Amino acid sequence: MRSFEVPAFYLSPIISRVKARRKAQDPRKQNFEPTVLDFGTVRFVLARHFGFCFGVENAIEIAYRAIDENPGKRIFLLSQMIHNPEVNLDLQDRGIRFLQDTEGNVLTPMSELRREDVVLIPAFGTTLEIEEQLKEIGVDVDAYNTTCPFVEKVWKRSAKLATEDYTIIIHGKPVHEETRATFSHAGEKGHALVIKNMREAEILCGFITGETDIAEFDTYFKGRTSAGFDPNIHLNRLGVVNQTTMLASDTQAISDRIKRAVDARISQKSTVDFANTRDTLCYATNDNQQATQSALASGMADMAVVVGGYNSSNTSHLVELCEEKLPTFFIRNEKEFLPDGTVQHFDWRRGLHQSTMDPWPVSDAQNPSCVLVTSGASCPDATVDRVMHAILQRYPGSKDVDEVLVDFEQRMTL
Ligand code: SF4
Repeated sequence: MRSFEVPAFYLSPIISRVKARRKAQDPRKQNFEPTVLDFGTVRFVLARHFGFCFGVENAIEIAYRAIDENPGKRIFLLSQMIHNPEVNLDLQDRGIRFLQDTEGNVLTPMSELRREDVVLIPAFGTTLEIEEQLKEIGVDVDAYNTTCPFVEKVWKRSAKLATEDYTIIIHGKPVHEETRATFSHAGEKGHALVIKNMREAEILCGFITGETDIAEFDTYFKGRTSAGFDPNIHLNRLGVVNQTTMLASDTQAISDRIKRAVDARISQKSTVDFANTRDTLCYATNDNQQATQSALASGMADMAVVVGGYNSSNTSHLVELCEEKLPTFFIRNEKEFLPDGTVQHFDWRRGLHQSTMDPWPVSDAQNPSCVLVTSGASCPDATVDRVMHAILQRYPGSKDVDEVLVDFEQRMTL
């Protein structure tokens, strides 16, 4: 996989060394065991994979190139480029303005754009409708398009299936930029429907098998279907794709459930009416989720700290996995650790900010605390480094960082 030019301030002295050594030892990424860094009074269990993915590094490289290549020009982002507050803030500090917020609310009206403006398409991609509006203004939509190739892969598969009369079921969050973009592209050549979760998949299956009266369809799915969608016709041939950052296991379970409904309807196994789209799942989402599960399965950690933007879908799914096994703190950065020991964190299910007073496990040299650390695909490793330094401050007498890294590197070469 190609490497990208990412500004040095996003890289990190600790995590870069760990990742480089793990990569050298396991270039084909077959070992998902976590890395353990033992600081004496506290141990870190680092997931094998976390942090910037291919699509995010690609987007960052293009965005900073756009700034360098266009001095004096107005530069806009359609919406947040990725869901990380530090990256977005840095881009804004360099003069980039956002046209929309994450929910699609207008921050700068399109009518203010001029043909000579630079407009960046974010890593999630955008809808065909927005692309058309930009073209009408005269903006070059291809000059700085940071849409992730793995998102485009989902669009291409959806378009191909649509031409074969399949309806595309998109497992995603209906208001998320990527889901809106995939819905737009999937609906261009055929029909599409967005479902959020297994509960909605179960409801949909009732319509597929005919157990639920089709007259009820709009009660559940109004506003989630492509124009002209007719549930009497468009639930016959189905393929499932996802917003690439959903839990891969959830998408697979939903896909399996819908296939069973299709099979039940025709009372025999069907390979015709249900398309296999498993290969459209994003590699990074898979790797990060699998690595987090492996770190949890090691049974070493007392608590988990997951770092990323509160609106980051892939980060919230890592939090979801950790919460099943450990007290888990979803934080944006090291500033969430207050000097009095309080941790400010985010309850992603309820969308609430929370504070927990001194959650740190008691630790000594015989029984050191063990903290699982991971981060979302849009979180810079430098932020994770600062989080680790902030945790180390809670545990006085811990070993020197360089000493621990040298020890780790020696263990890796044995
Ligand atoms: S998570 Fe996957 S699809 Fe999303 S930007 Fe990263 S590589 Fe692309």
